[in-house]
Amino acid sequence: MSKSTNHPYEELLAAYSAGSLPLSQALCISAHLEHCETCGQKLRRLNRVGSELMQQLKPARASSELKQRLLDSLDSLAEAAPSTQAPENVNPSIPRCLRQFIDGSYDDLRWKRVSADIQSVELCRDSNGARVELLKIKPGGSATTHTHLGDEYTVILEGSFSDEAGLYREGDFMVRGTSDKHTPVATLDRECICLAVTEGPIQFTGFVSRMMNPFIRRSYA
Ligand SMILES: [Zn+2]
Repeated sequence: MSKSTNHPYEELLAAYSAGSLPLSQALCISAHLEHCETCGQKLRRLNRVGSELMQQLKPARASSELKQRLLDSLDSLAEAAPSTQAPENVNPSIPRCLRQFIDGSYDDLRWKRVSADIQSVELCRDSNGARVELLKIKPGGSATTHTHLGDEYTVILEGSFSDEAGLYREGDFMVRGTSDKHTPVATLDRECICLAVTEGPIQFTGFVSRMMNPFIRRSYA
């Protein structure tokens, strides 16, 4: 387990503990938790607080019909739950929460070229429209300077990158808001693979790359 130095803020962990986060954000928190014992401990504390609060609530009498519907939905959830067991051919660095989208290794995915330095592959779309994707930046490669029309959540899965705010390593979690403008650059030693959730299209701010904005926005339509 690596020593992450960039963590989700407490409110996000509390919402994760309460099960109230959108799937896309919950995937980022889960991927970070697989790297971070500090947040694992915080989450266990939040879960304890949540269960104590639940115990203090006065139970309402449930009808037998409601009880049966609850039992039926639990049965169907158990049947639908994806297996988190790693098949033998799975790269162990792929977080368990992402294995339902990645069959084998990162190399087996259908990466699409974004720029000379970056490739991406979409894993899924959240019901709120957020895009869940992996980004691969080549060693020393740079993402064009950009801002976001919504928040962007990033977790580093392999390698490291730096931007105007500092250096980020495997397991690090970060959120960039609409007012943040940044230029991530992968370190030279190896390629960098990140889990990225964008709630709206990114907005390139460089002179030439601004031309790409209409095409990026269209891909969110
Ligand atoms: Zn953490």
